[in-house]
Amino acid sequence: MKLTELQLEQINNQISALISANSFYGKKLEEYGVREVRSQEEFEKLPFSEKSDLRDAYPLGLMTAPEEKIVRIHSSSGTTGLPVIIPYTQKDVEDWGLMFKRCYETAGITNKDRIQITPGYGLWTAGIGFQYGAEALGAMTIPMGPGNTDKQLQMMMDMKTTVLGSTSSYALLLAEEIAKRGIADKICLKKGVIGSERWGDKMRKRISTELGIELYDIYGLTEIYGPGIAITCKHDCGMHYWDDYIYIEIIDPVTGENLPDGELGEIVITTLVKEGAPLIRYRTHDLSRIIPGECECGSKFPRIDTIMGRTDDMMKIKGVNVFPSQIEEALREFPELSSEYQIRISHLEGKDTMRIYVETNGTVDFLDLAKRIAARIKSRIGFTPLVKVVELGVLPRSEKKTKRVIDERY
Ligand code: ZN
Repeated sequence: MKLTELQLEQINNQISALISANSFYGKKLEEYGVREVRSQEEFEKLPFSEKSDLRDAYPLGLMTAPEEKIVRIHSSSGTTGLPVIIPYTQKDVEDWGLMFKRCYETAGITNKDRIQITPGYGLWTAGIGFQYGAEALGAMTIPMGPGNTDKQLQMMMDMKTTVLGSTSSYALLLAEEIAKRGIADKICLKKGVIGSERWGDKMRKRISTELGIELYDIYGLTEIYGPGIAITCKHDCGMHYWDDYIYIEIIDPVTGENLPDGELGEIVITTLVKEGAPLIRYRTHDLSRIIPGECECGSKFPRIDTIMGRTDDMMKIKGVNVFPSQIEEALREFPELSSEYQIRISHLEGKDTMRIYVETNGTVDFLDLAKRIAARIKSRIGFTPLVKVVELGVLPRSEKKTKRVIDERY
């Protein structure tokens, strides 16, 4: 997607604010000798912002508005070392609420709905994002927070909850409990707004069939407001994102070059009107692509695909970027395969080779199946892997996370 005149102007306003506040990015820009961008090309040359920059700014180095305007902070969970603190002004909080309200509206949720919110409240942005958006919409909220399944189900029945806000794993747990307790006829749920972890089609189908509800994927990250910056619509072909608040680029995660619309790469986000902590070209390490063209729903908002994984999982084979999720999705189209597979990458006689081992039972033609799988994978990644079909139970299984990709080149 190309920058509009308005977006360019908004970015320049963000740049001026960052420079006057002398924030980490303001300093970076001074080093680069940039105080303004006048074109797409100039913008695409700006340095990226990384999570490590944000961490280095701990505790309040990201604060770009005067302190008297800051009304709240949130923090992203730091798995290693210091967390990231994001300051919000009143306007940021309201903008986030309006974006989340738009998410609910895109999912066809109205002020007559009753929304049960199960993600956590507190420093984390999830619960409060669902809450603020629902209040902006005028819907009745049931702010449960996580856990306590007995009480969740009781409230869901008594309050006649129609919308569930949840992570995919908790939605699945609730679905299973409802089936186990035989209380499905007392549940009034119609829709689920499911937060941003990557989840497979199988899990999605199970939740939607068990609960008999429509599911909507919502996207977001604490560094950029929180959940609510994008959501799927009823046509379920990608997530609409709010390009009046954020600008999205897709880049090659290795070279940092911008990729054309439609190509898979890393999501990079620039905030357009944020006050508390604006971010320019923030690398999310989430993988997706811009979906070209207009959605059947008629929305003017552009779309990104549902998240395909993280850049850390990427492999470069024969000069092509390949993600395990692409292989996994192709394999999922073959009902005759088990869920186990193994990818081995090696370097033989000056060439990269990718071998994929898959399992099936003895009743199929192994050679024919291997050929069909190789063709299907080629159509996704652009080159033909060597596929070997083995008998069920041959591939290693382990208690925790099975290592599915073995790179023998290094
Ligand atoms: Zn749509």
